[in-house]
Amino acid sequence: MKKKINLNNTNSIIKEDKAGELTICENCEIQLSKVQELENLSSRDLFILKTPRRILNVNYPVKMDNGKVQIINAFRIQYNDSLGPTKGGIRFHPDVNQEEVAELAFLMSLKTSLTGLPYGGAKGGIRINPKKLSLSELEEVSRGYVKEMFRFIGPQKDIPAPDVNTNPQVMIWMMDEYERIIGEKAPGAFTGKPVLLGGSLGRNESTARGLFYILEEKFKDQNKKNLKIAVQGFGNAGSKIAKFLFDLGFNIVAVSDSSSGIYNEDGLKIDELIKFKKKNAKFIDYVGKKISNEDILKLDVDLLIPAALGGVITKKNATKIKAKTIAELANAPLSPEADSILNKKGIEIIPDILANSGGVIVSYFEWVQNTQGYYWSEDEVNQKLKSKILNAYNAVLMQSKKYNLNLRTSSYSIAIERILEAEKMRGSI
Ligand code: NAD
Repeated sequence: MKKKINLNNTNSIIKEDKAGELTICENCEIQLSKVQELENLSSRDLFILKTPRRILNVNYPVKMDNGKVQIINAFRIQYNDSLGPTKGGIRFHPDVNQEEVAELAFLMSLKTSLTGLPYGGAKGGIRINPKKLSLSELEEVSRGYVKEMFRFIGPQKDIPAPDVNTNPQVMIWMMDEYERIIGEKAPGAFTGKPVLLGGSLGRNESTARGLFYILEEKFKDQNKKNLKIAVQGFGNAGSKIAKFLFDLGFNIVAVSDSSSGIYNEDGLKIDELIKFKKKNAKFIDYVGKKISNEDILKLDVDLLIPAALGGVITKKNATKIKAKTIAELANAPLSPEADSILNKKGIEIIPDILANSGGVIVSYFEWVQNTQGYYWSEDEVNQKLKSKILNAYNAVLMQSKKYNLNLRTSSYSIAIERILEAEKMRGSI
């Protein structure tokens, strides 16, 4: 059983999961403790970093199609706003809880800081199973969330975006409700919108494209054909990174969806697989050599890209991982214990707050375009993304060399330094 959050305890977001694994927030705590020594953090600094600034936990009624009223429990956690308005997705999931949202909001604060965005970090969650709701019920749930939260969100307060099980349609319902309440247009209040209503060109591919720019730089002097890559997850992030790397000549030997993985030592034809998946097909039905989702993680490859769920590599399978580098396209795919084991094995890990930051970077571009009412070409968006993410990557590499740190600790230390500097300038510490 997860321990309940205790808001009087500054360590309260640290948890153990059912299997006794430390959760991602414990990972944050472990990384914070490493940075504590490096950065000479005071107890006040640690308090600021460990404590969400604002926790909103609401319960609101929604009339369902059968005429009955259902009470919807939902959250928004604005973790740290020292660098600017907070930013982060809203997920719809029956199991989403305050602890999980706090952990993800913490990571968002680090991600926006690391990439030099003028934002703090936040996350939201609504405890529903969207697959069991009709479209009109989903709309009511989305609009109801804004009715509860509108005082606390807005282009200069907190800017939500899509996350697990939320999409551009949900953002439009939410934006429309927000605009009705405040009585004016406010496209910059939400990102991840359709292009017609203020979304940015390039946003859809931005998470994968951001990692692609990092990998293109990392492997620039190597023969791509000789580099074997495995990608777990073939959704928005996974299929797009596979396609970008395939087009550059890398050898993608394995990919997977939730049904199965497929494997070919000589390289898979990614275009063919994308076409296959477009028909709503599952890899289990694909004609070719199969590999399980567990075994795909253990392949002897140059690069492993987890792009599906969090927590897929734990202390149980970490010792069997043979990849030379892991790029975390998913959020928190490694448990803290797995992270330590892999670090000891000398496996390089490009951490999630850097590897998947392309999404929030282009969300920031969307907000800038909304604010100035002037929209950029896709090329312009991609060039700006490349410049921003490579700046962050190079800063992390320099920090890593300077202090002999792994990439995760380097990323955390840069992000934390900026947050604390902003807090100091504001006089909070
Ligand atoms: P998605 O829903 O589009 O795709 C998820 C993929 O994972 C699907 O192919 C699905 O079949 C597969 N999958 C599900 N369960 C699996 C399992 N048990 N084993 C193997 N594969 C499984 O989601 P997405 O948007 O591609 O996001 C994937 C990850 O990337 C998530 O962790 C998300 O938090 C992270 N991420 C995404 C973005 C973004 O902009 N899309 C931004 C930042 C982080």
